[in-house]
Amino acid sequence: MSPDKASTRSASRVFAREFHRTLPKAMRGEGIWIVDSEGRRYLDASGGPAVSCLGHSHPKVIEAVQRQAALLPFAYSLFFSSEPLEELAALLVEAAPAGMDKVFFVCGGSEATEAALKLARQYHLEKGQPQRRHFISRRQSYHGNTLGALAVGDNPARRATYAPMLMEVRHIATCYPYREKRSDETEAAYGRRAADELDRAIRELGPENVAAFIAEPVVGATLGACPPVPGYFKRIREICDRHGVLLILDEVMCGMGRCGTLYACEAEDVVPDILTMAKGLGAGYQPIGGVMAHRRVVEAIESGSGALMHGHTYLNHTVGCAAALAVQRAIQEEDLLANVRRQGERLKQGLEERLGNHRHVGDVRGRGLFLGIELVQDRASKRPFDPDLKLHARLRDAGMSEGIVCYPSGGCVDGRRGDHVVLAPPFTVTDREVEEIVERMGRTIDRALRSLPAGQAG
Ligand code: PLP
Repeated sequence: MSPDKASTRSASRVFAREFHRTLPKAMRGEGIWIVDSEGRRYLDASGGPAVSCLGHSHPKVIEAVQRQAALLPFAYSLFFSSEPLEELAALLVEAAPAGMDKVFFVCGGSEATEAALKLARQYHLEKGQPQRRHFISRRQSYHGNTLGALAVGDNPARRATYAPMLMEVRHIATCYPYREKRSDETEAAYGRRAADELDRAIRELGPENVAAFIAEPVVGATLGACPPVPGYFKRIREICDRHGVLLILDEVMCGMGRCGTLYACEAEDVVPDILTMAKGLGAGYQPIGGVMAHRRVVEAIESGSGALMHGHTYLNHTVGCAAALAVQRAIQEEDLLANVRRQGERLKQGLEERLGNHRHVGDVRGRGLFLGIELVQDRASKRPFDPDLKLHARLRDAGMSEGIVCYPSGGCVDGRRGDHVVLAPPFTVTDREVEEIVERMGRTIDRALRSLPAGQAG
């Protein structure tokens, strides 16, 4: 090792995600706030990556976790069911779009994606169509970091290292009206044009070979909280039905109330065959994800092999389910989805007022408390900043300096160019906190732009 490298080595024994950054040590949570070991307070306006939908100190969830841990932390899913598991499944299915029938729980979003892909494959085997093996997804999408999930996603930065290990997946255009709707096109015409790419891809692969299409109803990390145009997913559903292809909706980030309805697909008036959830499901109090299946998928297995050909040690984890149950009950009892819709409107309006005329803000978008801000070098042409400037990383650091946690990423334009920030505050956010987010976010953007080399931002 060179002396230079040795001198910058951290004493920490943690295998860090980024070796050359020193992170503040988070000590405790107070509602929307995280407090570090130096006593600095960070307004958590994104819940990490859209996780902490109840803030960091909800007493009922903490109590439920403690109670279940004391009673029975873990009962293995091949040997036992449990009360929190049964109640959580019943609550979620009861609130789901008609036809959604059963759900099982994993430990996070990537596991949910893997399980959904495998479930789709198993469905076709049960139905006597073993040749259905291809998956189709969309460009600029993210479905997780395990190999199957990485393969269906289209996040070049995360895929590049592992490309030779990934299964082949066909990617079609996403639905990104800010950049891809032509000015001479209505939203409906654009939605149809974008969705029809799926029809073409299925025909090219041979409909009899395609297992499923996977998409996020509102695209999170890769596009910056980008909702589809009305009618897009209805068209997608029709195309899937026409070809016997399953529709998997990945609601890991946008679901569980984040967009103002418990399931994001409610707003599209579309029912998937398989739906995945995570993040807000357990709100960060426990790591938990879920896979919900439509009755037709469940029945194929029930009347076929009779067993799910998938499982992990921590499937249906007892404390995980107890935490998620308490989270979902709090959302219902405190009528928090109404607050998501109300504060979502206020936050969007506040951001539009503060940033709408900003010469480097191209678009403010999103739904409910899932909002995105896309930054551009030039508003008229929508030209993004040079990706080598890493504006998104500057935004993250500027946010930390301004005492706000936001979730910036790069690559929304084509996987490499484009910078955006996602905001996803807790469903409990108050009027005052919304104003504070707008103010701090404005300062964060200005600070990040000031840090660019001379001549890059005006
Ligand atoms: N799917 C979507 C839409 C996501 O946004 C993410 C994570 O950001 C995942 C799947 C993967 O979830 P996890 O990081 O919990 O494995």
